Amino acid sequence: MLINGKALLDVANANNFAVPAFNISDWAMFTGIMDISEELQAPVIIAIHPDEVSHVTTDLIQAIRSRAHRSSVPVVIHWDHGGTYEQMLVAIQAGFTSVMIDASLLPFEENVALTKKVVDAAHVVGVSVEGELGTIGANDSYGEAGAAEITYTDPADALRFVQETGVDSLAVAIGTSHGLYPAEKSPELKLDLLREIKGVVGIPLVLHGGSANPDEEIGQAVKLGVNKINISSDIKVAYHERMREVLGTDRKLREPNAIQPEPIAALKVTAAQKIHLFDAAGQATLY
Ligand SMILES: [Zn+2]
Repeated sequence: MLINGKALLDVANANNFAVPAFNISDWAMFTGIMDISEELQAPVIIAIHPDEVSHVTTDLIQAIRSRAHRSSVPVVIHWDHGGTYEQMLVAIQAGFTSVMIDASLLPFEENVALTKKVVDAAHVVGVSVEGELGTIGANDSYGEAGAAEITYTDPADALRFVQETGVDSLAVAIGTSHGLYPAEKSPELKLDLLREIKGVVGIPLVLHGGSANPDEEIGQAVKLGVNKINISSDIKVAYHERMREVLGTDRKLREPNAIQPEPIAALKVTAAQKIHLFDAAGQATLY
């Protein structure tokens, strides 16, 4: 079934698990994610970043909606890192059921104003909204919105932000960065800060860029109130590493239906590991 982000994440919040938001940018990746989510009976968020929207076009959303409607697990279609109000209108018209407006690089009051404007429009048509406060780091040029340095989310500001905007979920900066980590950098989550933020903000919290953080830290973050975790680099690396091997092994291969099954299988293995880590397996029965 196809639902909105609030309906999905409020249940996760009440039951202490996190839903993976997998970024996909083609149909093969999408079907791999749907298949593994159904095999494990895990709720799922299909996330599409503006760069990915440019690649697949919004025409693909109707097909994703069709697949979601006949799925045995709850599915949310989420516009990742929306940058402008106009983009959010495109998302709503295209059929996304959840949007993120990321105005986190703007001054606080401007972030509040833009986020509230998006919330006011989206809620009218039943689309839920994720905001972001603080600045999540970016490791490489493929990183999404973000900066080299992390600006940690302030708990008092977070409370004001949620009250003034009416967002349904909040992405926080507690020590993760977008993209893959260079060898010399080692990530560390500020779990005390997470506990403090969750203590004042009751809504579902979102973690972006947790690719390189140790599994144990991510597992603790889930226990402390993170209910959505974005996964992009990890599944794409798994998918394309295997594809390079397949193409290198038999240079005559030409047909996508011969090339893609093994990369899809590799993507599913990585996705399954995240689903278990987030305690999302089997949780579809709650909906
Ligand atoms: Zn992100």
